[in-house]
Amino acid sequence: MSAIRNDWTREEILEVYNRPLMELLYEAAGVHRMHHDPNTVQVSTLLSIKTGGCPEDCGYCPQAARYHTDIEGNELMSVSQVKAQALRAKASGSSRVCMGAAWRNVKDGPEFDNVLEMVRTINKLDMEVCCTLGMLTENQARRLAEAGLYAYNHNLDTSEDYYKDVISTRAFEDRLETIGNVRKTNVTVCSGGIIGMGEGVEDRAGMLVALSTLSPQPESVPINALVAVPGTPMEEMEPVSIWEMVRMVATTRIVMPETQVRLSAGRTQMSPEGQALCFFAGANSIFAGDKLLTTPNPDVAEDMELFRQLGLQPQKPFVKKAQPRTVEAAESELEPLGEKPRWSRPGHTIPRNQEARAGKKQ
Ligand code: SF4
Repeated sequence: MSAIRNDWTREEILEVYNRPLMELLYEAAGVHRMHHDPNTVQVSTLLSIKTGGCPEDCGYCPQAARYHTDIEGNELMSVSQVKAQALRAKASGSSRVCMGAAWRNVKDGPEFDNVLEMVRTINKLDMEVCCTLGMLTENQARRLAEAGLYAYNHNLDTSEDYYKDVISTRAFEDRLETIGNVRKTNVTVCSGGIIGMGEGVEDRAGMLVALSTLSPQPESVPINALVAVPGTPMEEMEPVSIWEMVRMVATTRIVMPETQVRLSAGRTQMSPEGQALCFFAGANSIFAGDKLLTTPNPDVAEDMELFRQLGLQPQKPFVKKAQPRTVEAAESELEPLGEKPRWSRPGHTIPRNQEARAGKKQ
């Protein structure tokens, strides 16, 4: 087994990323086989439980209220709606449901109580439950853990240097603090990023430094290719090539051998052969369902046909870690604390975000 290293440097990661492709693929595939069953891929369904109207200014995101996109916002879904969707996801082969809410941070109150109930409900369906709800305090992380949450997603998005060119409403350190709060519980960490936002390869390496030097490393790392949505500040970005995606997946696999590397947004722009190369390079997780929050994703039937062609099997739930126990709301020992943490708000100027807000690009 190759050892887990938490001391990767940017230079070392760049050296891996820039290797001749066949060498990079050969090594990544070898590391993958040492730590995972290469014929098993974890399938997650991403459910947008509260869409749009977000106060943040993430330059890639059509859900930010300030940009002029065609997103139809909706209020928080009900527990019964979520349960129905989770049952559908389970029937079509997903082992995990990831619930996303377009919030800056979690606030104690009836909406969070409903999310806790959704977590309990899905865990009782014997599926892994993940949430992505924005920034989170330690007490909120503990309450999610007590409800039976399996994973919390909180992406670093890019390198610390380039973060300032993407988002001005919060800082990179806030992300690390939330991940730290999740780490104080038994909930696993899912954190990755997006390529194709105009960053350099140094930034891709920088993001992998930030993730791989976390100890322990995240159990799951989604690698997204930007889906450039009209009306967002990044609407004119060129799509990333499959070779960049393969290099990113292979490098992630080498620097984080035990992590589940998830091929996330941008799969509709990839051919079946391109996706197969990503699986060979160490990707072992995908998002299923025809939508990823708000952007298109391959149809489940197409994915299952690809699995059939490649001889891949969907991973069963709780293979990597035991199912958490759910504590019912009435038996909970944790109270909402009504905290109002001062998450940062740098507020610096990002010209393309401001132009998109003013609608100048339309
Ligand atoms: S990525 Fe999340 S936090 Fe950023 S604008 Fe979109 S919904 Fe809001």
